[in-house]
Amino acid sequence: MTANLLDYDLEGLAVFCERLGEKRFRAVQLFRWIHQKGASNFDEMSDLAKSLREKLKVVAYVKALDVISQHISADGTIKWLFDVGAGDAVEAVFIPEDDRGTLCISSQAGCAVGCRFCSTGHQGFSRNLKTGEIVAQLWFAEHFLRKHLHRDERVISNVVMMGMGEPLQNYSELVPALRVMLDDHGYGLSRRRVTVSTSGVVPMMDRLAQDCPVALAVSLHAPDDALRDNLVPLNKKYPIAELLEACNRYLAYAPRDFITFEYCMLDGVNDQAEHAHQLVNLVRKYSSGGVWCKFNLIPFNPFPASGLLRSAPEQVKAFAKILSDAGIVTTIRKTRGDDIDAACGQLAGDVKDRTGINQRIARQRTVMLKPVTSFNTDVKEA
Ligand code: SAH
Ligand code: SF4
Repeated sequence: MTANLLDYDLEGLAVFCERLGEKRFRAVQLFRWIHQKGASNFDEMSDLAKSLREKLKVVAYVKALDVISQHISADGTIKWLFDVGAGDAVEAVFIPEDDRGTLCISSQAGCAVGCRFCSTGHQGFSRNLKTGEIVAQLWFAEHFLRKHLHRDERVISNVVMMGMGEPLQNYSELVPALRVMLDDHGYGLSRRRVTVSTSGVVPMMDRLAQDCPVALAVSLHAPDDALRDNLVPLNKKYPIAELLEACNRYLAYAPRDFITFEYCMLDGVNDQAEHAHQLVNLVRKYSSGGVWCKFNLIPFNPFPASGLLRSAPEQVKAFAKILSDAGIVTTIRKTRGDDIDAACGQLAGDVKDRTGINQRIARQRTVMLKPVTSFNTDVKEA
């Protein structure tokens, strides 16, 4: 059996090397070649003994995902659609900003949570991604961008697990992937710059705090259980009180001293002044002294099957003001990549459309690629 080396964190690779009768430190060299230099061909790995390279060629390979399409938005956002086999596809989105380059990554093909306002949720669940398939999105994007932008140093400074899927429902594959991102011999990202976003899988939040505490974003979307049950069905299993208690527990281990609550603004559904006041009370009730959360209001990105509408900008601003006036740091998310359907919740990947996949792939491949003319992705440490 041959192994895809993208599936291993450094410890896993060390065990792999030991099984081949090699010293563990060989794994560090191998890991650096793969993740820091983007090498996939063992012959490139010049400081590894020829005998080891020959052995590796027999038992291992480094394989990323096939790219079905690449779309570049007028604002510099890039969306890739990756083929994960059997008619499934997942998406990753690169968002360049003045002071950072953020990659939004998928953790599953589809999603079982089924939130009403999310197009991934509407498609249903297909399967969990393997560690190597999660890592492959970063591996491909980082090394593609370096080449494309003629950069020697790191382009992606932040990773957010906010693409398709519920990362905490794919826990065992997620954690090694996070370790690859954090490892100094891998991508060397700081814990504060890797964010797991969850709809609230409470037991796994506790495990993440122990196993690999990175920044946490929690998709709240409603101030009370009746409304949240309706928008995020997982709330019936882990209601708001349990979720907020888990957030407080997580904070003891988190790399930041706050949790980010994401709140998708849905016209007439969860965007009224009374909802904002209820949120203020909720946050106060669970605050164990001082500020412990921030709110990120996301303008809803509509899709036909949802039957929902985006809140008016004035409504979003008024809502934000109520939270800010109560002392809660609140931001309104800029929508990026609108013209290429790369915004939150628009990541579809056509999981359900198994029969149509070939037509879709053909369609996507004919999309004209616009050349990237200017990006400012200088990475400054926060
Ligand atoms: N499953 C995880 C992470 C992926 S979704 C989670 O739910 O947190 C990432 C974010 O996009 C979540 O906050 C989600 O609520 C938001 N989102 C989903 N659909 C959206 C839509 N149509 N418009 C705006 N935001 C959306
Ligand atoms: Fe799944 Fe997140 Fe979409 Fe809900 S919002 S269906 S949890 S991907």
